[in-house]
Amino acid sequence: MDTAVFRAWITAAAAVIEANRDHLTQLDAAIGDADHGINLARGFTAVLAAINESPPGPVSSNTVLSNTGSPGTGATSAGVATPGALLTLTGATLISKVGGASGPLYGTAFRRAGKALGTAPEVGLPDLEQALTAALAGVQQLGAAREGDKTMVDALAPATRAFSKAIAEGASPADALAALASAAAEGAAATIQLQARKGRASYLGPRSVGHEDPGAASTALILAALRDTASGDSGSAGTGLAGTGSGDTATEDNGARDAGA
Ligand code: ADP
Ligand code: MG
Repeated sequence: MDTAVFRAWITAAAAVIEANRDHLTQLDAAIGDADHGINLARGFTAVLAAINESPPGPVSSNTVLSNTGSPGTGATSAGVATPGALLTLTGATLISKVGGASGPLYGTAFRRAGKALGTAPEVGLPDLEQALTAALAGVQQLGAAREGDKTMVDALAPATRAFSKAIAEGASPADALAALASAAAEGAAATIQLQARKGRASYLGPRSVGHEDPGAASTALILAALRDTASGDSGSAGTGLAGTGSGDTATEDNGARDAGA
């Protein structure tokens, strides 16, 4: 996976957040203050602007940027020349543009992931596993939520665990990413029955039971976008995500099913 794949992921994540903006806000209306979809959509709009304003990096396959008029200038992008830099910029932008709890939490997650990837131009499955592990650690360090507290951790933690397990078992990239996204979706759905112990929803006590946590729902959407983007990439040549598995893409469990409301 190169910078272009990560840019495609973030672009897809922004699109799925925008498409689910009202749904996420409705989830937050039930147990919070009805701003989660609005918060994240605003944040990802700013992220798109940030990653597209930065001058193009050396990645030749990225032709998204069209307004410079001189694609062959050789200018090295200070902002998004590598996957790590792209995720770090994403995180910094979310922190600066998104209020509430989720901005700093998502911002920290992306920044930690970016830092974990370092300056490598290509990222493989083990690198991505480390980045996800770092993102989860960052979220838990900042928010002090454990699994079962009805937060985004209830999607991110099982997703990271499932991804690690799949890699350890020699799964193909597509299968590992499918396991990641499925575990996130299952974790988010399982928050319905939980009572919130962190964040605004915890003020409701037992009345928070019966509603899906909005941050867990958005985490599942963002990780589904990663699966959809990177699974496609893993099938093409020279991506650095060479797998050992069957090549079964297993993408039927897509994020659209979360868009129902
Ligand atoms: P706010 O609650 O400030 O209005 P948002 O509505 O944007 O912020 O985000 C709410 C989501 O943030 C929750 O659904 C939950 O997933 C997540 N969240 C809140 N507090 C924490 C925490 N301490 N740790 C992890 N996630 C949290
Ligand atoms: Mg809110």
